[in-house]
Amino acid sequence: MTAVLLGGRELAAAIRTEAGNRAAELTAAGCTPQLAVVTATADESSAWYVRSIANAAEKTGLRCEVHDLGPEAEPAAVRERLEQLSADHTVHGLMLQTPLPPGATLEELASAIAFEKDVDGANPLSLGRLAAGMPAFAPATAEAVVALLDFHKVPLSGRRAVVVGRSTVVGKPVAHLLLDRDATVTVCHSRTADLAAVTRTGEVLIAAVGRAGLITAAHLTPGAVVVDVGTNPTPDGGLTGDVAADAAAVAGALTPVPGGVGPVTTALLLRHTVLAADRAG
Ligand code: NAP
Repeated sequence: MTAVLLGGRELAAAIRTEAGNRAAELTAAGCTPQLAVVTATADESSAWYVRSIANAAEKTGLRCEVHDLGPEAEPAAVRERLEQLSADHTVHGLMLQTPLPPGATLEELASAIAFEKDVDGANPLSLGRLAAGMPAFAPATAEAVVALLDFHKVPLSGRRAVVVGRSTVVGKPVAHLLLDRDATVTVCHSRTADLAAVTRTGEVLIAAVGRAGLITAAHLTPGAVVVDVGTNPTPDGGLTGDVAADAAAVAGALTPVPGGVGPVTTALLLRHTVLAADRAG
């Protein structure tokens, strides 16, 4: 078997077009949707991601302001900036980029992001509401996984889905979204015994770990649909996922890295920001 590639660029373009059309209407009515990104790290891949969000926002007709507080920033200063931006009525979407300065936790700082502006679903309030099946912005990456599966018409109801990774940014929210879609969900992590035996039960497998090549052909049941969320830097400055090349011989379908979950994530951040601007009236 050679896996079919489930690309994300076409879906991302459609989401950006729809967001851009609504942004143009809001701009004509005197309110350009604005996303503010707070960052406090020297991490190069994080800087690359923030630049790509800012470029996509600009091309889509949104404003995007990056608040770079530098890697030495005190957690209190990051929190204060998030509070200021939460109170700023010209800012509709607000996100905090990771990694964070030493001593800071995402949950603690992100609780300073106003719930209605929490376009990357990082505030524990958003995550709690998501877990309770209540309206909230989901973390864009988690939503991108399900959006990509829907776009490629992968059925979820009643199917066995295995999520590898349990972070609050990706693994847990993906598990909630899959449960909402009536999949039967198993979540794995670094202490899971015999990972391959568990992942082989998955008709749909979501890899969200951050270890290049962790998921191999031996981890898959033949025909599995595999979503690779991992973005691991390669020595030549590129990106590679969590899924090894040999998986393509066993999987039925596979998302590429780059060009899979990543572009959909960015597009959804823009969609969320436009929605937040719309709701702010
Ligand atoms: P994270 O916070 O480091 O979480 C990694 C998870 O993987 C943890 O739950 C960890 O288990 C688990 N894990 C680590 N080693 C494992 C192993 N050998 N076997 C099974 N599970 C293992 O990472 P994250 O923020 O969720 O991100 C995961 C990946 O997604 C990264 O590559 C990141 O760059 C990428 N990402 C991509 C996008 C995108 O838009 N494409 C967005 C966000 C993140 P424990 O909980 O037991 O430690």
